[in-house]
This record gives sequence, C-alpha cells and structure tokens, in this order.
Amino acid sequence: MSQHQDGLDTQDIRETARKVADKQIAPNAAKRDQDHTFPWDAMKALAEVGLLQVGISTAYGGMGGSRREFTLIAQEVAKACASTALVYVTNSMVAKAIEADGNETTKRKWLPLLLAGKSLGALAVHEPDSGCIMAAISTRARKDGDTYVINGSKFLVTSAGEADVYLVIARPDPLTAPQQMHILLVEKDIPGLAFGRVEDKMGLTSTSSRQLFFNDCRVPHDHLIGQEGEGHKVLGAAVAGWGIFGAAGLAVGIAQSATERSVRYAKERKIGGEPIALQQAIQLMIADMVIQTDAASALLDAGAAHADANPGKAAFHAFKAKLFSSEAAIAVTDKAIQVHGGHGYCKDYIVERLYRDARGLTLHFKTSELLRLEIAEAILKM
Ligand SMILES: Cc1cc2nc3c(=O)[nH]c(=O)nc-3n(C[C@H](O)[C@H](O)[C@H](O)COP(=O)(O)OP(=O)(O)OC[C@H]3O[C@@H](n4cnc5c(N)ncnc54)[C@H](O)[C@@H]3O)c2cc1C
Repeated sequence: MSQHQDGLDTQDIRETARKVADKQIAPNAAKRDQDHTFPWDAMKALAEVGLLQVGISTAYGGMGGSRREFTLIAQEVAKACASTALVYVTNSMVAKAIEADGNETTKRKWLPLLLAGKSLGALAVHEPDSGCIMAAISTRARKDGDTYVINGSKFLVTSAGEADVYLVIARPDPLTAPQQMHILLVEKDIPGLAFGRVEDKMGLTSTSSRQLFFNDCRVPHDHLIGQEGEGHKVLGAAVAGWGIFGAAGLAVGIAQSATERSVRYAKERKIGGEPIALQQAIQLMIADMVIQTDAASALLDAGAAHADANPGKAAFHAFKAKLFSSEAAIAVTDKAIQVHGGHGYCKDYIVERLYRDARGLTLHFKTSELLRLEIAEAILKM
C-alpha cells in the first residue's frame, strides 16, 4: 500500500483490510474468543500491511487518511474478529491523542512504535465508582516538583496489561472541576502501576479488560498530553472526534457479518426439503436486518464525511452513528440467532459470538443513555 498522505485510495484500504481480516484474523477468532487470548497475531497482521498508520500524518510515520477510511478498517476487522477491532480502534485513538497533543519527544518516541504494532496504546478513563460521569473521577495526579504523583484506579480498560502506554485522566486535586483534569502518559513498567485480573466478560473476550491501580505512581512532567487541566479537550478530540467513529464502524461490521451469515443460512438450511428462506417469518427478519444494517452504515458514512469536512462538529456525528449502530448491532445479531434457530445458540455458529460481542457496544466509551443526552443537548442548543 502506498504511504503518502494525499493519494490514499479508500477502496484499496478497504480491500486490504478485508483480505487481512479474511485470511489472517478470522481463522483464529473463535479460538481467541474461547481462550481469551489477546489478538497480538491479528494486530501484527494489520501492522504488516500498514493499516495501523491510517489517520496519522506522514511526519510521524503514518499515511494520513480520513475518519471514513478508519471506520472502513474497523468494519472489515470486526467482521472477522470484533475483539481485534476494539483493540485496533483503541490503539488508533491513543495514537491520535499523542499526535494532536503530545510534545515532540513523546510523538517521536511512541508514534513509530504504535503504528508499527511494536507497542500498543490504551486509554484509562473510567473508574469503579465514577461510572460514565467525568465529574465523579477520583484518580488524582498531584504535582510534586517536576513530576505528577498518581493515586487511584481505573476500570475495564481495554488492552490493559498488554499495552505499553496508557493515557490516564486524573484530577489535580479533589476539588478540580471535570473540565480541568490532566491527561498523563503512563508507561507500563513504571513503579506503582499494577493490573487487576482479566475480567471475564460476556463478549469481546480477547480484549484483556482489566483494572489499573496507581499507588504513588510518579510520572515526569513532560508526560502531560495537552496542557495542564485540559484533559477533557484531549479526550474530546481523540475519543469523540475519532475513536467513537471506529466504535461505530465496529458495530456496523458486526451487523453486516450477522446479516450476511443469516441470508446465507436461510437459503442453505432445509426443513422438510425446503429452505427456511421460503418462510415469510424468516423473510421478515431478514428484511429488518438488512434495513437496520444499511441504515447504520449510511449514518456512519454520512457522519464520518461531515466530520472530515468539519472536524468541529465531529462529536455530534460520532455520537449519532455510535448510538444507532451499536443498538442496531444488538437487534440484528439477536435476529441472526433467531434465523439460525437452536444452531445459532451453539458456539459452532459465529452468530453466537457476534451476539455476545455486540452487547458490549452500547456500554463502552459512552453508554447509549449518555449519548442520547449529549445528542439532545447539542440539538436543543442549536
Ligand atoms: C467492552 C468494553 C470496553 C471498555 N473499554 C474501556 C477502556 O478502554 N477504557 C476505559 O476507561 N473504560 C472502558 N470501558 C468502561 C466503560 O466506558 C464503562 O463501562 C461505561 O462508561 C459505563 O460505566 P459503568 O460501567 O460504570 O456504568 P454506570 O456508570 O454505573 O452506568 C450504569 C447505567 O446507568 C446509566 N447512567 C449512569 N449515569 C447516567 C446519567 N447521568 N444519565 C443517564 N443514565 C446514566 C448508564 O448509561 C448505564 O445504563 C469499557 C467497557 C466495555 C463494556
């Protein structure tokens, strides 16, 4: 694949992602899901064809590229393995934050590693007691000379324990407003950082979700990402402006896979000598699945294109796309199991995994409830 910023061919990127996903990521997906094995092999395969570079400028070893291209990669990878897609999206989001707001030394050190698949990034925002509310974050980064001292914990962090670099949001003191948090880059081996057990999740089982514990963890001052007290801005650009589009792509990929598999199964599965596709009940479900999947894909495509043209409005489009596509993925995978009957409830059929993976999508990054509130607030302010 060509590595230049302007000449990216969207179709080439999608095709490359599809081929890698089919040949190198899909074959081990069921085993990774069953064994909860982290998808290092899949990330390596994506790195080898340059897909980890999409979205980052050539100045730092990237190949440029738009949100639309990023979401297409997330879709193709999710069709093969949603866990890999989530790890990919998270890593890309961390790289975007470092590129946008890291200092030059941080960018030169970490971006080439993150884009080559030699290191991995994770984002640590949520806490056991903060839930999805930023104002409730209690992890503290107290300034002490030229270091920050971090104490607290984070919850359900994707790629935890596997990632080499963590972007951690913390408040300078207990009274700090949510808009005045810091984002600090924390390296995995730093003294005072410990990891909890791998959480035994319902789906997305190979993403290594763990708790992080910070105990007097000292981070140099120049590991600040963005300005002091401007963590929410860094998160706004990297999560709402980029990562959430990837999460929506992940949902669309799952819905597409479930729909394609159900159409195929309905034609192949014969009861009393006749394919179940002849049953109107099955036809009605297939029609609904196709419409929901296409609608999710169209909303995401349009939203990503709007955001590429007007990055200031990116979050609004990302929230709409993620909300709709994640709920569509749950509805579509639910119907996929129904179309497959009892077979679909067994692990031999991939729709069973798709259903479990889809269920996590209305929870991570921002829950559906928070997305609805943010969308309504943006509209009613207009
Ligand atoms: C697959 C997966 C991957 C994740 N990866 C990461 C990661 O990489 N990094 C990270 O930091 N976190 C990660 N998380 C954590 C995730 O962001 C949180 O689970 C999520 O923000 C919800 O927080 P909570 O689970 O504590 O739910 P709670 O905040 O306890 O919410 C419980 C319910 O109450 C609703 N609710 C809460 N407050 C409000 C409100 N004010 N208005 C309306 N409804 C409300 C919620 O929407 C939800 O339905 C991940 C989670 C999952 C499932």
